[in-house]
Amino acid sequence: NKPFGHFFVDEAGMLAYERSKFIKLSLDSVIEANELSVVLQPQFDAQGKAVASEALVRWLSPKLGFVSPADFIPLAEESGAIIKIGDWVIEQVCKVLSELQQQGITTSVSINISGKQIVAPDFESKLLDTISRYEIPASSIMLELTETTLISDIELVKTIMDSLSKKGFKFSIDDFGTGYSSLSYLKELPIHELKIDKYFVDDILTSSAESAGKIVSLILDMARVLNVNCVAEGVEEKEQVAFLQEKHCALYQGYYFAKPLAQQEWLSLMCAGA
Ligand code: C2E
Ligand code: MG
Ligand code: MG
Ligand code: MG
Repeated sequence: NKPFGHFFVDEAGMLAYERSKFIKLSLDSVIEANELSVVLQPQFDAQGKAVASEALVRWLSPKLGFVSPADFIPLAEESGAIIKIGDWVIEQVCKVLSELQQQGITTSVSINISGKQIVAPDFESKLLDTISRYEIPASSIMLELTETTLISDIELVKTIMDSLSKKGFKFSIDDFGTGYSSLSYLKELPIHELKIDKYFVDDILTSSAESAGKIVSLILDMARVLNVNCVAEGVEEKEQVAFLQEKHCALYQGYYFAKPLAQQEWLSLMCAGA
């Protein structure tokens, strides 16, 4: 053990701390250094047609290799780099959507938006500026928020969502059921979609008949009551597809259908399927 402040941390703890510190420092210059990219994972309807997609950021660090957004996005939130990174992701999505639009195809892309990002005072004006520069309709953009973001400052977030919703943007609740939102909040917010987290979708395959798919069914029922669509995340097996289809889930996202795709591959798929 090494002394660290008043504490003793083990080797692994020290390494994790050093790695986080290194990632935070690196994030300031990832855009200028050309280390980020955006991939797109199609979402399919029950007939197997790719009708929408989710944009996911990728970071290839020359020092660390591929770093998962699950690891670096929380650090980017802490350091504030998320604002620049988030703006850049929105710009890339608009750029690729405009390429598709030039082929006469419109589709909807979901963009993950972090809590810090959506409450930044100029979020709406920057978003409007970006879509107008690329001539993208607001209805092509779905903003994914987590329950944690919603409840961080529900009044403020509701005001922002209402304003953006009036302009035509759509909202999706990501990782639904893993956070702490209440039904009464959800009823008051302009929500178009709930995403059922992979954690619950995995449950469909559990050997225990007691729990198999019970929460998924409940979320699908809830979505019907709230009059919103559902997307099942992390669908990997055909048994999951069969179960979800029987329960009338609207959209399917997962390796069973398609992995997140590089932009050229995504453009080909969207053009082929149109
Ligand atoms: P998320 O928004 O819930 O994204 C879904 C994650 O599940 C993605 O991981 C995706 O690649 C993965 N996935 C999709 N289908 C399957 C499947 O069938 N099996 C498995 N095992 N995984 C599947 P990814 O790309 O590593 O992203 C992780 C998280 O990082 C995202 O979770 C999101 O919270 C965050 N994130 C990603 N891109 C952005 C971004 O541009 N901005 C912000 N703020 N957060 C982002
Ligand atoms: Mg998401
Ligand atoms: Mg999710
Ligand atoms: Mg998830």
